[in-house]
Amino acid sequence: PPSPVEGRTFAIATDVTFAPFEFQNSDGQFVGIDMDLIRAIAEDQGFQVDIRPLGFDAALQAVQANQADGVIAGMTITPAREAVFDFSEPYFESGVQMAVLENSSITSYDDLSGQQVAVKNGTEGADFAESIKAQYGFTTRYFADSASMYDEVRTGNSVAVFDDYPVLQYGITQGNGLKTVTEKESPSNYGFAVDKGANPELLAAFDTGLANLRSSGQYDEILGTYIGAAA
Ligand code: GLN
Repeated sequence: PPSPVEGRTFAIATDVTFAPFEFQNSDGQFVGIDMDLIRAIAEDQGFQVDIRPLGFDAALQAVQANQADGVIAGMTITPAREAVFDFSEPYFESGVQMAVLENSSITSYDDLSGQQVAVKNGTEGADFAESIKAQYGFTTRYFADSASMYDEVRTGNSVAVFDDYPVLQYGITQGNGLKTVTEKESPSNYGFAVDKGANPELLAAFDTGLANLRSSGQYDEILGTYIGAAA
């Protein structure tokens, strides 16, 4: 039987800069693990995607306001979000870690006392920082996008940033001038999401397409393009 998504176009909201999951290449195209995955799944399942790079919290809001059909944005599957979104099967294991400037003398959360740290609106990194800031005596400053958040640390206005470790690792490898000094926090999983109860056929097509990409080896190929076999 023909798939219920066949020939349809879905608006997919995403973050603006969250390399290696979504970012603009030198031609201005949105590429990255999430972008390649959703496009490959769309091709496998016979639907089209209209990619909308809105920013992380704006992407989640767009889906909740039914201005977009789905969101793929390195979005962690959490119990709180599961109350308002339906998630696909997990497609990537991630988690939060802290990064500081390469020449920083900070080696632990204790060293954050009296300092400011940079976080992104609506993220797991921000929630984690909030959960420990009273204990370690630091303040948080919020940004809508990762680029401004990282600039904040490079200029020294904030001494640290909390973000997902594959993103920190990718940036460090690209020479962003940061380093990690603390352990990763507990692992979590990324999922593709739709508004709760909306677009069930899109969610099902994502899961079927993801399973197909995993068995064909295309999933590993996409990951390998951006982070190599070791990740
Ligand atoms: N994984 C994190 C979250 O879901 C951050 C996502 C992002 O910044 N794009 O909150």
